[in-house]
Amino acid sequence: MDIVGGYVRRNPGSRAAYERACRSLPSGCSRNVLYWPPFPIYLAAGRGSRLWDVDGNERIDFNFNNTTLILGHNHPAVVAAVEEQLDRGTVLGAPTEAELELAEELLRRLNGSEKIRFTPSGTEANLQAVRLARSYTGREKIAKCEGAYHGSWDAVDISVAPPLDQAGPRKAPHSVRQHEGVPKGVLENTLVFPFNDAEAAEALVRRHRDDLAAVIVEPVQRDTPPKPGFLESLREVTERYGVLLIFDEVISFRLSPGGAQGLYGVTPEITTMGKIIGGGFPVGAYASTDEVMTPLTIPQARGEHKPTRLGFSGTFNAHPVTMAAGLAVMKELRPPAYDRMGRIGRRMRAGLRSILEETGVAAHVGGVGSLFHVIWTREEVVDYRTTATGARVIGHYLSLDLMNRGIYLRAHPNISAITTDEDVDTAIDAMRQSMEELSPIIREQAPHLIER
Ligand code: PMP
Repeated sequence: MDIVGGYVRRNPGSRAAYERACRSLPSGCSRNVLYWPPFPIYLAAGRGSRLWDVDGNERIDFNFNNTTLILGHNHPAVVAAVEEQLDRGTVLGAPTEAELELAEELLRRLNGSEKIRFTPSGTEANLQAVRLARSYTGREKIAKCEGAYHGSWDAVDISVAPPLDQAGPRKAPHSVRQHEGVPKGVLENTLVFPFNDAEAAEALVRRHRDDLAAVIVEPVQRDTPPKPGFLESLREVTERYGVLLIFDEVISFRLSPGGAQGLYGVTPEITTMGKIIGGGFPVGAYASTDEVMTPLTIPQARGEHKPTRLGFSGTFNAHPVTMAAGLAVMKELRPPAYDRMGRIGRRMRAGLRSILEETGVAAHVGGVGSLFHVIWTREEVVDYRTTATGARVIGHYLSLDLMNRGIYLRAHPNISAITTDEDVDTAIDAMRQSMEELSPIIREQAPHLIER
């Protein structure tokens, strides 16, 4: 077994880049998720469903910048839209028609939303959505699910992946600071409940009904779909107590023309988005009804300075290049594209299940639509605690071994609209070979998964 040795041999240029990068960038990169031992690969180019690293290794992409590039790399419609915008300038300094058109396109897809604002990231979309909910309700607390990631900012950097010995009872988890740098006071205002547990959610909302501004939830948490009735129940209890429901659809918006809310038929007050809607450029957005967005309206005054209820600025909000690229993507994404991604996603999940069956290893294959994942556990994965039973070390070695075999599959595995049946079959074949390579690691690190 020489997965790491093979990786080191194949990637001398990435290793050199990493060693050099560590002198100027902590851990050699700008996103924690992009560091992995022994060193990450440094990428040079992407086209369609293919990536090339600085050593010239070609790989099939099943990450697409963590679910961003739903049309793959360098889609001709996106490149044309961006070039056309570049010809007219990069960032101009007043609102543009591109932002108006993307706003209209997204609002057509979101049932019940009437107004939208753009941000440069999903993080900022969620931050602004929570502020909006606080302003609208006059309350301060929010509730989020254990295990949910809503961006890198204080109020939600709580219980993203809490150590189980600090996490408290399953049905009433403690709020745990995920990182240093977040003031302890934040813990008072961010409450936590388990995903997919309607009863626990209802108990929490009822208990804090007078102080709770919003419940923020990913309708599909990472790759775990909601149990039937869970979102409906959240909708009912929040509505009953005048608490706003925020759906973080930064990833799940890719699941249907109207996002996960379109797929499951549950409408929140506020929707946040990101990733796919910027066509590969930095983006976020939050949308809601006219009424809820009222605190954002700037009071009409003839030249006179009147205070607004909510601040909202950002030099790069609604960047014209992002807006042009995002609009090009959304125009390509008609219902047949979603059907095709759903079919290819099913092919991937079925292929993964059959390999596990063939090799006699128990693991959970999850995901929905264009999302898929393997969690190395025997449990049925429904929330953070069941996800946390997975042997993550196996996923790490699998992804290194797959990189050795020409497959880039990490963090948030997904297929795009240009992923083909052949791409999936190639990945499945590679995984079959990887499972042989991984066998000693599974035997050593997670023998309970071996069926025979
Ligand atoms: N919400 C969810 C569900 C996400 O997955 C992410 C990013 N992975 C974010 C918010 C933050 O978005 P960004 O990285 O654009 O700030």
